[in-house]
Amino acid sequence: MSKAETFLDRSMIALVSRISGRTAVALALILYVGGGLILPLTLGWPTLFLVEANLVGAVLAAAVCIGWLMVRVEAGNRRHLVEWTTDLRLLDPEEFEWLVGEVLRREGWTVRETGSQDSPDGNIDLDLTRHGQRSIVQCKRWTAMVVGVDEIRRFLGTLMREHLPANAGIFVTLSSFTEQARKEAQEAGITLVDSSSLYSHIEKVRHAEPCPECGKPMILDRSKHGWWLRCAAGRCSGKRDLSREPGRAIELLMQSD
Ligand SMILES: [Zn+2]
Repeated sequence: MSKAETFLDRSMIALVSRISGRTAVALALILYVGGGLILPLTLGWPTLFLVEANLVGAVLAAAVCIGWLMVRVEAGNRRHLVEWTTDLRLLDPEEFEWLVGEVLRREGWTVRETGSQDSPDGNIDLDLTRHGQRSIVQCKRWTAMVVGVDEIRRFLGTLMREHLPANAGIFVTLSSFTEQARKEAQEAGITLVDSSSLYSHIEKVRHAEPCPECGKPMILDRSKHGWWLRCAAGRCSGKRDLSREPGRAIELLMQSD
């Protein structure tokens, strides 16, 4: 993919992940009806241009709708991962990154999955920002092998190349770390997360679900249609229907006393 395509892709994803379904439909209509019909008609374009403008309008409108759906499906998958993953070892490396990303997102970080295959430096799996501070995460879905000091040193090198202090580094693994690796990380300030501390991170965040619109926590509520979660922030209209997930509603009810 060219740089321009990647940029367009990113902008589209950034756009569709911020808007509601209704806005997406409205935008698609504006693009299609406005850009593809009204504008060329008002300008009195010849038929051939008109057909082309119509086509471009339709493609853009479809891109908005499909993009919006894709982002929602992906968010749903992430949520599912944290809620129902009982054995993290079943996850493939990419799913593992997703899971770690979702946990951090619920801890208040803005998370960007870097897609390690494309990046020049395979040592950054997640790029985080919170309160204007940047951190990077390396995820190693190893189960049998223990993470050694060499891995820590390589990660330190990456942090240096990114002009980040060592304490901006988080190393996550499903296995554990060697004594020497722990010592090295502690001296430098790198945060280590092994399988047991990852489990406790998940336990802490698995019940607090963020609003899909603004990321603030959501409150359990009930209407005549059944249980649903609504955003705690007053003016935000973010919500999620729980009518098809009675188990989730029960789980939330049990701990809200
Ligand atoms: Zn909200």
